[in-house]
Amino acid sequence: MIQVSEKCVGCGKCVSTCPFGALSLVNKKATASSACTMCGACVSVCPVKALSLPATATASQNDLSAFKGVWVFVEIGDDGKTQKVRSVSLELLSKGRELADQLGEELCAVVMGQGIVKFMAEISSYGADKIYAVNGPAYRDYNTAAYANAMITLINKYKPSAILYPSTYVGRDLAPRVAAQLFSGLTADCTNLSVADGLLISTRPAFGGNILADIKCPDFRPQMATVRPNVFKKAVTRPGTMAKIISEPIAIPTEAGKVRIVSKQFDEVTELEKLDEAEVVVAGGRGMKDAAGFAVLDELAAQLGGAVGASRAAIDMGLQPKEKQIGQSGVNIAAKLYIAAGISGAVQHTVGVEHSDVIIGINKDANASIFNICKYGFVGDARTLLPKVVDGIKKAKGK
Ligand SMILES: Cc1cc2nc3c(=O)[nH]c(=O)nc-3n(C[C@H](O)[C@H](O)[C@H](O)COP(=O)(O)OP(=O)(O)OC[C@H]3O[C@@H](n4cnc5c(N)ncnc54)[C@H](O)[C@@H]3O)c2cc1C
Repeated sequence: MIQVSEKCVGCGKCVSTCPFGALSLVNKKATASSACTMCGACVSVCPVKALSLPATATASQNDLSAFKGVWVFVEIGDDGKTQKVRSVSLELLSKGRELADQLGEELCAVVMGQGIVKFMAEISSYGADKIYAVNGPAYRDYNTAAYANAMITLINKYKPSAILYPSTYVGRDLAPRVAAQLFSGLTADCTNLSVADGLLISTRPAFGGNILADIKCPDFRPQMATVRPNVFKKAVTRPGTMAKIISEPIAIPTEAGKVRIVSKQFDEVTELEKLDEAEVVVAGGRGMKDAAGFAVLDELAAQLGGAVGASRAAIDMGLQPKEKQIGQSGVNIAAKLYIAAGISGAVQHTVGVEHSDVIIGINKDANASIFNICKYGFVGDARTLLPKVVDGIKKAKGK
């Protein structure tokens, strides 16, 4: 929280400046509430210099040249049966390798968990020069306070310049906590990452998706970004090479004890995960019209061993749950086969499917934009065409 010294004269300038309504005058003295995000807007307007950021918050502003290296937080996924490195972490290592090479710096992975030694070879093959391993039973399951404390301890010790996190439930929980405690910036759900003038440039949609904003963080370190699955391609850049492994035993803070996992239940793979990782995705748009239209897509997906997705228009019509939305404000996919039925091909949709290998479009309108990204396009009524395709597949399978 912002600190208010005795110099405060109660002029109230900070109160009207605070974008979060976190300051008020109490007994003619500025007082901050828990809504304070330490954005610092009030510090610069105070005419008597009575406001300041706490020392921990300003630490990251000092000596930026001491911060070097690109880090990737590598998340270990657990489906109740096996643990594995989440695919999105490998995508980030692949992109991180490119960025580190452009900066002339090291790529380091941070891995936390129990029994994580078995993942080191795979992480190394995706380009990590070093792996910081925080291993132990206390890190078996994700715990916000424990993981954030470990991350901050490592950052303070080794001073990375940039850190990439997967935009998963874990990454989205961890990264803001670290950013707030270190008083550094965080760009969420980036659609691209690049380097310019030694800085990380994080690109993401802004103003309702109407522009792509390039965001940089010139004054604070580390520069941080989260990236959704399937935004970058995975690439094994160093097969057979082993990174330098640095084991970091970090005690968990007392705060971590506030959360205890009493029992765990795993859903059968959620639809979201299926879409993320499915090799075949069959999606419908407004053109599928109703539940009967989507029932055909369910059948087709079942025959092909794939998952069903939808355009935002179909979601808005209540034909599918929000988790099935593909595109800019939904899930990104990188399927081997993507079938888009009754989908026009708006850019907000196609941006989420462009990493798929083969795209097939079915649309009544020969001029629909979906055909611009298709390998194969069918002009026609998807509602009458697809049941025939399903029958054809069944016959071919001898059913
Ligand atoms: C900030 C922002 C974020 C967005 N994010 C997303 C997102 O994540 N994902 C997303 O999908 N959209 C998103 N949108 C919405 C996007 O712009 C489009 O409005 C949406 O993708 C259109 O969905 P659609 O193609 O199903 O519907 P429409 O554009 O209405 O197209 C329906 C298509 O179906 C065809 N058709 C009709 N009947 C048939 C039939 N029987 N057989 C075959 N074809 C038929 C029509 O010719 C038409 O091309 C976003 C928009 C904004 C502004």
